[in-house]
Amino acid sequence: MDTSEFIQFAKATIDYVADYTDTLRSRNVLPDVEPGYLSKLLPKEAPQKSEKWQEVLKDVEKYIMPGVTHWNSPYFHAYFPTGNSFPSLVADIVSSAIGCIGFSWIASPACTELEVITCNWFGQMLGLPSEFLHSSNGTGGGIIQGSASECTFICLLAAKERTVRRVKQLHPELDEDHIKAKLVAYTSNQSNSSVEKAGILGSMPMRLLPVDDKCSLRGEILKKAMQDDMEKGLIPCYVVATLGTTSTCAFDNIDEIGQICKEYDIWLHIDAAYAGAAFICPEFRYLMSGIQYVDSFNVNVHKWLLTNFDASVMWVKDSKSLVETFSVNRIYLSHDKEGLIPDYRNWQIPLGRRFRSLKLWFVMRIYGVQGLQEYIRNDVKLAHLFETYVRSDDRFEITTEVILGLVCFRIKGDNNLTKELLNRLQARKKVYLIAGMYHHKLVARFVVCSRLCREEDIAISWNEIRSQTTEILQTKFNKESIKNGIKSTDDMAARIESLNLESKKNMQKIS
Ligand code: PLP
Repeated sequence: MDTSEFIQFAKATIDYVADYTDTLRSRNVLPDVEPGYLSKLLPKEAPQKSEKWQEVLKDVEKYIMPGVTHWNSPYFHAYFPTGNSFPSLVADIVSSAIGCIGFSWIASPACTELEVITCNWFGQMLGLPSEFLHSSNGTGGGIIQGSASECTFICLLAAKERTVRRVKQLHPELDEDHIKAKLVAYTSNQSNSSVEKAGILGSMPMRLLPVDDKCSLRGEILKKAMQDDMEKGLIPCYVVATLGTTSTCAFDNIDEIGQICKEYDIWLHIDAAYAGAAFICPEFRYLMSGIQYVDSFNVNVHKWLLTNFDASVMWVKDSKSLVETFSVNRIYLSHDKEGLIPDYRNWQIPLGRRFRSLKLWFVMRIYGVQGLQEYIRNDVKLAHLFETYVRSDDRFEITTEVILGLVCFRIKGDNNLTKELLNRLQARKKVYLIAGMYHHKLVARFVVCSRLCREEDIAISWNEIRSQTTEILQTKFNKESIKNGIKSTDDMAARIESLNLESKKNMQKIS
């Protein structure tokens, strides 16, 4: 393909991306395919001869799109958002064109240096203590990893090395393997699955501790668990606290947890994968009170900061702990500027790394801090609008305080009602929500995800939820009334209808 043909191809692709974005509202958020659908449609082997790009692009719409879950649809309310914006998409094109593998400074100085700068910009935007920033006189700094899972795991490995060194100093007679076998990590039973996985990968038991009624891990619970372990001769090593849990967006009490970690010299990592982005707005920073105690902190800009997957920013106060854990040297990796600026290969698991900071830089510059704050605040406002709809309908309850973009709600009564609601919504494919747990209650999680989401979209999603609930309750009451005699069917149907009408009226009032 020559350059002029590439330009035509690229322009047509950009047009396609713009059309796709424009038509997202009219597509079902969930696809209507069964496992294995694609292998029935595509050839069994790669083509021997070159094909026309026009055909390839056409096949994206014909074969790929029918199997896509549209994470950027305004009716996608599942999981947490996936970052997406035009500046970020465009930056990824530039990054791919440069195609450098920036494992060390010399491997592509701009790749390392822009990452240092964007991590500092972002750290300042969040109001992180200055010890987390790159500076000429400290050991702190940020790096862009691929995922929050990697950050949690990397910090576990660094905590392990740090603890072994500490214990070795106190007890030189102990051998390293003996110490490693005694290390224990702690987190709440609400933390993301990736935290438990980090324990498995790092061969360190990860205690999943109980939480209070707000799903928050408290200091006393942590202290008791650690003391129990120490009495058994085990060594507390690593704590992962979450700011914005996946299930209910709960916030662990890092003021309390942090003081305990400091007292026992234990590495405290904060997983703020989703909620961390909100701290660019000063009014949400109270949620990270206790940040001064923290060793490492992570925010996925690929979640709630308009930056395409993957980009998970992680800061540490003591980058030496990472370097001591991860550096393996070879002659072909050395260069004469070593030590003057991070060689990020020593802060991460893989050797190779992409030029991810470009997309964060484009996003920060093209939105500006104010534009990004507006985006966060608007999503929170939309979540509160949805909350108002739910509260206006007597058939539902809100289970946890709505703080950011997640609303946890349920149909009053048995868990099966909410389960059925989620199943029906999934089968109809128009809006997508998933389940969470609030203590023993099953909840539907409604997250404002898409940057395209507007008030009208929230109303459309709510209408779908409301009308499906009416059908579920009608079916349930019909079944019950068959058991109890026909008359009650009419009474119950009338009651359901009146609740439905009341909810509709309330919705009109709110709008
Ligand atoms: N932590 C929290 C609180 C999350 O909600 C998630 C994913 O939703 C993760 C970690 C995992 O993120 P990643 O896919 O970047 O590893």
